[in-house]
Amino acid sequence: LMGFVGFANLPNQVHRKSVRKGFQFTTMVVGESGLGKSTLINTLFNTTLYPPKESLPPSAERPTTVAIESISADIEENGVRLRLTVVDTPGFGDFVNNDESWKPIENRVNRQKIVDNRVHACLYFIQPTGHSLKPIDVEFMRQLHTRVNLIPIIAKADTLTDEEVADFKARILADIAYHNIHIFQAPTYENEDEEAIAEAEEIASKIPFAVVGSDKVVKTSDGREVRGRAYPWGVVEVDNEDHCDFVKLRQMLVRTYMEELREYTNDVLYENWRTEKLVGMGV
Ligand code: GDP
Ligand code: MG
Repeated sequence: LMGFVGFANLPNQVHRKSVRKGFQFTTMVVGESGLGKSTLINTLFNTTLYPPKESLPPSAERPTTVAIESISADIEENGVRLRLTVVDTPGFGDFVNNDESWKPIENRVNRQKIVDNRVHACLYFIQPTGHSLKPIDVEFMRQLHTRVNLIPIIAKADTLTDEEVADFKARILADIAYHNIHIFQAPTYENEDEEAIAEAEEIASKIPFAVVGSDKVVKTSDGREVRGRAYPWGVVEVDNEDHCDFVKLRQMLVRTYMEELREYTNDVLYENWRTEKLVGMGV
């Protein structure tokens, strides 16, 4: 499951505390219908949780996600336990009224806090238009950014050229800054070793991550079997860092920043939410 991710090898002390207790880490995927959210969850867990369209009888369709559902897996690495949960949400194209469509998701984020099963990261899927953020994206992100660690993602990056991805990333970041949307920022520490600093900078430079999801193994022209998507001109490999940012995204979630995402969720976002609630109650 997921191959070797390396969360057991983190050297810092916060991590050691978690090692004893075992980790619980919850990610949520949000975005328009059809952008590959359910596929990316499959890719992350490396197993087919939803039956692929092709294997279904002609009358059947891949079930679109109609309700919020959670998928969990226990992963163990060098004696360290991680319970990874991904919350899948219906695309907001599926809601009747788009003005209010963020509400079930926001409610879910808040409800999770009450049962202390908080959402530590929200992967926000952006359509690969190559233009800029749509008004609905801005609205969604603004509703969510004070409540959850937002991590923007360019969906289906295989439909854009490298140059288009680079331009689109720059435009998305400019839009995010213009609308004062707070996305997850990798913290910087003093006294960090060079390797750790380089890893942090590398991850930061990829945001918004351009991802490709696939639940299929395909054959490359040089005969390798890889997870990817086949085109007449070649194969786009999910796990090849020259092809997309999937590996970096996974590394950020389950290795490099898992502790930071959990801490920020507990210390800042949860406190924001509590304060807002108390103010709302007139306290
Ligand atoms: P969801 O509605 O966001 O959950 O989207 P799905 O995961 O159900 O995917 C919708 C369609 O997009 C399916 O036909 C997938 O095979 C396809 N798809 C998913 N991920 C990718 C991707 O990275 N690139 C491309 N080109 N297609 C994708
Ligand atoms: Mg889905």
